[in-house]
Amino acid sequence: MKRQRLAVLGATGSIGVSTLDVVARHAERYEVMALTGNSRVEVLLDQCLQHRPRYAVLGQEQSVAALTERLRSAGLATEVLAGPAALERVAALPEVDTVMAAIVGAAGLQPTLAAVRQGKRILLANKEALVMAGALFMAEVRAHKAVLLPIDSEHNAVFQSLPADYVGNPARAGISHILLTASGGPFRTTPLERLQTVTPDEACAHPNWAMGRKISVDSATMMNKGLEVIEARWLFDVTPEQIEVVIHPQSVIHSLVQYIDGSVLAELGNPDMRTPIAHALAWPERIAAGVAPLDLPAIAQLSFERPDFTRFPCLALAFRALRAGGNASTVLNAANEVAVAAFLDRRLPFLAIARIIGDTLDALPVADMSDLPAILAEDARARAVAEDLVSCWQ
Ligand code: NAD
Ligand code: MG
Repeated sequence: MKRQRLAVLGATGSIGVSTLDVVARHAERYEVMALTGNSRVEVLLDQCLQHRPRYAVLGQEQSVAALTERLRSAGLATEVLAGPAALERVAALPEVDTVMAAIVGAAGLQPTLAAVRQGKRILLANKEALVMAGALFMAEVRAHKAVLLPIDSEHNAVFQSLPADYVGNPARAGISHILLTASGGPFRTTPLERLQTVTPDEACAHPNWAMGRKISVDSATMMNKGLEVIEARWLFDVTPEQIEVVIHPQSVIHSLVQYIDGSVLAELGNPDMRTPIAHALAWPERIAAGVAPLDLPAIAQLSFERPDFTRFPCLALAFRALRAGGNASTVLNAANEVAVAAFLDRRLPFLAIARIIGDTLDALPVADMSDLPAILAEDARARAVAEDLVSCWQ
């Protein structure tokens, strides 16, 4: 069998590490051509020693010589590069078939688009790319016949619950709704007044999933679900009215599709990202992921609640941005990245995250964005507004 040749963007992060764990179980199927990491040079070095890629990409030029030297002394010819242009280069390499897009935030957009434009198979974890630039991203996917497979567990579950030939148009497929499940995060039942003083470490202590710090804070504010609502709109061609969020604290049902005849199809499993990663890596085949089988009697109970938009204003802000259209989701994403980074730096209290995002949306008029330069300009403008608001925060 010809091996699938992979580039893993964001290899040193939570999704990247899980991806390489699945890949290592199936050396006969996958060959790693490129690995990228931003600042964790030691982790990238160890990954290179294990997977022997042709290219490794770092965030900063100053570490290139040292990593190259250590790879050479281990007998590896891996070429070490740095910076955004190198990310785009390895994402677009002719010798790469499949790109795992697992950089966090807006930094993932352009490398992922570079892979899309080469018509590659894209395993999309980087939801912010779709939130920032959904219309353009999907148009490029269609124009270049890229194969887009969702890694986000909810979207992967929806993908698995849709008809195999689904290419958009939910009405024609008899779909009534997409139900995105949400755990509710670490603060689902925390007294509201306590939320004033929660710390970054408390916000990052997710009850079910171990993830990077940005998405962990997004889960605590439920902006993560908001971003996923926007992601679902683009991936599955549904309207905001066709997307419903359901709180499901056990994270066993990863999401569901409701059909007009009353049938509801879902994907269930243990909360372990290696399942959607293995699904997308092997699709349409199946491979082992190293995930323990689901033990329903041990779980005993699955429960559901409606989301509380007062406790989680970020979820309402995401629906507002999606309905507004134009630049609003780009602004939402940029303001969220700035506010979350400020919270993680202890420059902003937890409850101010939603305020900064809401105020940034209020400050910038809704406008159409025609192309990538317009999207990047809007992203930069929203970041500047949000940074100003953070610096004025008392
Ligand atoms: P993480 O913080 O653990 O890893 C992020 C990766 O991106 C690292 O490899 C880092 O080096 C790289 N990176 C960060 N900034 C960069 C920059 N400016 N330039 C180049 N590389 C950069 O994050 P994660 O939890 O692995 O999440 C990655 C993406 O997957 C996010 O978009 C997240 O929303 C999505 N996602 C994650 C999970 C999960 O379980 N972790 C689940 C669903 C979706
Ligand atoms: Mg998710």
